[in-house]
Amino acid sequence: MDSAEFRVKGKEMVDYICDYLDGLGSRRVTPNVEPGYLRRLLPGEAPQQPEEWDSIMRDVDDKIMPGVTHWQHPRFNAYFPSGNSFPSILGDMLSDAIGCIGFSWAASPACSELENIVMDWFGRAIGLPDEFLSSGKNSKGGGAIEASASDCILVSMLAARAQVIRYLKEDQPDAEDSVFLPKLVAYCSREAHSCVEKAAMICMVKLRVLDPDDKCSLRGATLRKAMEEDEAEGLVPFFVSCTLGSTGSCSFDNLVEVGPVCRSFPCVWMHVDGAYGGNAFICPELRPLMAGIHFADSFNTNPNKWLLVSFDCSCLWVRDRIRLTSALVVDPLYLQHDHSDEAIDYRHWGIQLSRRFRSLKLWFVIRRYGIAGLQAYIRNHIRLAKAFEELVRKDDRFEVHNDVRLGLVCFRLKGTDRLNQDLLASINGSGKLHMIPSLVRGKYIIRYCVVAEHASDADIDHAWEVIQKHATELLEPSVE
Ligand code: PLP
Repeated sequence: MDSAEFRVKGKEMVDYICDYLDGLGSRRVTPNVEPGYLRRLLPGEAPQQPEEWDSIMRDVDDKIMPGVTHWQHPRFNAYFPSGNSFPSILGDMLSDAIGCIGFSWAASPACSELENIVMDWFGRAIGLPDEFLSSGKNSKGGGAIEASASDCILVSMLAARAQVIRYLKEDQPDAEDSVFLPKLVAYCSREAHSCVEKAAMICMVKLRVLDPDDKCSLRGATLRKAMEEDEAEGLVPFFVSCTLGSTGSCSFDNLVEVGPVCRSFPCVWMHVDGAYGGNAFICPELRPLMAGIHFADSFNTNPNKWLLVSFDCSCLWVRDRIRLTSALVVDPLYLQHDHSDEAIDYRHWGIQLSRRFRSLKLWFVIRRYGIAGLQAYIRNHIRLAKAFEELVRKDDRFEVHNDVRLGLVCFRLKGTDRLNQDLLASINGSGKLHMIPSLVRGKYIIRYCVVAEHASDADIDHAWEVIQKHATELLEPSVE
C-alpha cells in the first residue's frame, strides 16, 4: 500500500469506524458463535499473493464482526470500561505512524519527555502527593506508562523484592538472593485482583490473602495480626497490595490504617491499585476515598479503563524511582547514550525494552477534553450508577450489595445463588445486555457497570427494563 492508497483507505476506515460506533446500538452486544467458528470461515494458510483491500474489509464485515463482543456498546455493562474516544484513537494512529521505540531518551527524546510530562500532569490532576511527581518539590519519584495494571503490580513487587533482599543481605552478605525467597510474604485482601496472585507466583514469594471487613475493606488490625504471626514464624513481610475500587464490588481498602502498619515493619513496600477507581480522583470531591495515599510507595491507575484512553495505558507512579529502577536495570553498550545521567530511560521502569509512544493518546485526551471534560465524564457515570441503584432499590424483589460510590452497582434477586445465575444467564443469552457476576461476602451477585462514553439515563432505563423482564419471566414463568 502506498501513501496514495493509504489516503483513500484511511479515510474509508475513519468512516467505517464512525459507522461502527454510531451504529452499535442496533447490534447484539455479545456474539452468537461457538468456539472455533472463525477457523471454519478462514483459510488454513496465509495467502501467497497480495489481496485487494476491499476483499479484506468484506471479510471483516462477514467473518470478524460476527465474533466481536462490542465493549463500546451502550448495553455493555460488564467488567470495567475499556476506555475509548476519538482523540485517543487518533493519538494511537499517530503513534503507530511515528513508529518509534522509546526505550531510552536517545531512542526518541519526545517519546520519553512527553511521557514524563503527561505523567506529572495526570498525577497532579488526580491529587497525588508531590513526592510521586518527577517535577514535585524535592521529589525522588515519578511515573511511567505500563501496558496493564498487572504489569504495574508485578514491577512494584519486583522492586519490593529487590529492596527487601538488599535489606536482608546486610546481615548475610554472602548469601545467594534466592536463599531469601522462601521467607518473603506479600499480603492483599480477598477483594484484590487476581493479578496480585499472579505477581506473587512470578516473584516466587508467598501471598497471604486476608479477609476484609463487612464493607469489603482491608483493615489495619487484620493486616498487623497476619504480619506479626508471620514474623513470629521467621517469615519476612515485604509487600502489601491495597485496592481502591476493587473489581468485585468497587470497595476501598483503609489506607489510613494499613499505611502505618506497613511503616511499622522494617522493609515493607505498600502498593495501591486503583486500576479503575484511581481515575475518579480527577474529581476533587472523590479524593476522600484515597485518604492515606501518602503512605504508599507506588500507585497505579488505568486511564485505559475509566478515562477515555484506549488500551494500553496503565499509569504507575513511585515515591522513589531509584528503588524501582535499581531492580530492573540492565545496561548493554548498544542501549547506552551520552545523556543517561540527565535524561529518563524508561526501559528501566518496566519489563519491556521496546515501548510505544503511548503518552500521545493520553496527552490528546487530556488536552481535547480538558480536566473539566474528564470530570464531567466521571461524574455522569457516577450519577447514572446511583440512578440505577435507585431503580434496583425500588423493586423489592432485588437487593443492592455494595456501597455505590463510583460507576459499579452490585445487585441480586433476593433468593438463591442459583436463581441469580439463571437470571444472568438468561439476560446475557438474549444478547441485549451484557453483565458479569462476582462474589460479594460469599454471595453471587450481578455487576452492573456504567461503561459507554455517552451513557445516558435512557440506557439505564432500558437496561433495567431488560433485567426486570427477565426476572419476571424467571420468577413467574406463566407470565407471557
Ligand atoms: N486491578 C483491578 C482493581 C482491576 O479491576 C483489574 C482489571 O479489571 C486489574 C487490576 C488488572 O488490570 P489489567 O487488565 O490492566 O492487568
